[in-house]
Amino acid sequence: MAEVPIEARLPSGGVKATTSRLKAGFFFSPRPGYTHRMDLYDACRICPRDCGTNRNAGERGLCGETAELRVAWAGLHFGEEPPVTGATGSGTVFFTGCNLRCAFCQNYQISQDGMGRVLSTEELARVFLELEAAGAENVNLVTGSHAVPAIALALRRARELGLSVPALWNSSAYESPGTLALLDGLVTVWLPDLKTLNPNVARAAFKAEDYPAAAKRAIRSMVERSPLEIERPDDERYPSGRIVSGVIVRHLALPGRLADTEAVLRWFQDHLAGKAILSLMTQYTPVAASPHARELTAFENRPISVDEYSRLTELIEELGVDTGFYQELVEGTDWLPDFSLRQPFSSALARPLWHWADEGR
Ligand code: SF4
Repeated sequence: MAEVPIEARLPSGGVKATTSRLKAGFFFSPRPGYTHRMDLYDACRICPRDCGTNRNAGERGLCGETAELRVAWAGLHFGEEPPVTGATGSGTVFFTGCNLRCAFCQNYQISQDGMGRVLSTEELARVFLELEAAGAENVNLVTGSHAVPAIALALRRARELGLSVPALWNSSAYESPGTLALLDGLVTVWLPDLKTLNPNVARAAFKAEDYPAAAKRAIRSMVERSPLEIERPDDERYPSGRIVSGVIVRHLALPGRLADTEAVLRWFQDHLAGKAILSLMTQYTPVAASPHARELTAFENRPISVDEYSRLTELIEELGVDTGFYQELVEGTDWLPDFSLRQPFSSALARPLWHWADEGR
């Protein structure tokens, strides 16, 4: 997820503009006959890790989680892409656990070290509603790939209780299209990473050589599910509009692996240009405190250099990517989140609403 302001770059060709207001019930009506699928945790194969773990019996798969849903933080976030942040911030919810477990994860405290608190689906539904009441443009669900059945239930309950803003699925894309189908009628905007198309890097950094194939499959299924639609309110606070449906593919450039970034951008241009938005991120920062970073062998564990950054901006021009965003180059580590705090981010970037260590909730 982007943690610094992102520069808008020519959000033009391929983006369908509309001035109509979102109609409650049009995008979000649950599928007729929808039933919850918590039974999928009995022998969990909901993601490509294919563990077969009985999470309903309290066992933990490679994602680190049982069937209980754990949440680390919820609040308004102002550092996402402009059509996601909008004017009043994205209603972000960070889940505990992760099925990919990148060695360089900036959120390792919650993704790999278990920081978070169990919430029932009813409690989570009410957090979604609190976010909307606080002004959130959307509900932004971060790293929930290992908990799709429970999150789908909470979303459905929140819709029943009146949640009307769009729901965004913010993930690594290491996901199975069949599992994502549980979110049909509930999620309309997808923010998948496309971390690498290089199986060697995927094996070294995530222990998932099949990541490139799985992520491409998942992203294609998201694009099929949700055609791009950007609402254009007559309001100067929305210079890039407001996304109500579609896919924003995020790629974090890794230091010393620009050829891999070029492969990702080429794939995007060949398969998704005009159908999705690209978000190129350059914020790679070594996470010194992470006990997992020492496993890094696939690339140079340092920030992107000025020369690499210039080459990346040239690549965008050369490949003709004209619908998307890229970050300014940032220095320092001030933006790295610390989820042990109620305010894990800078106060300019986020407004906390719920924290795992809050008392009396
Ligand atoms: S969600 Fe977790 S337990 Fe289930 S297959 Fe994926 S990693 Fe394994």
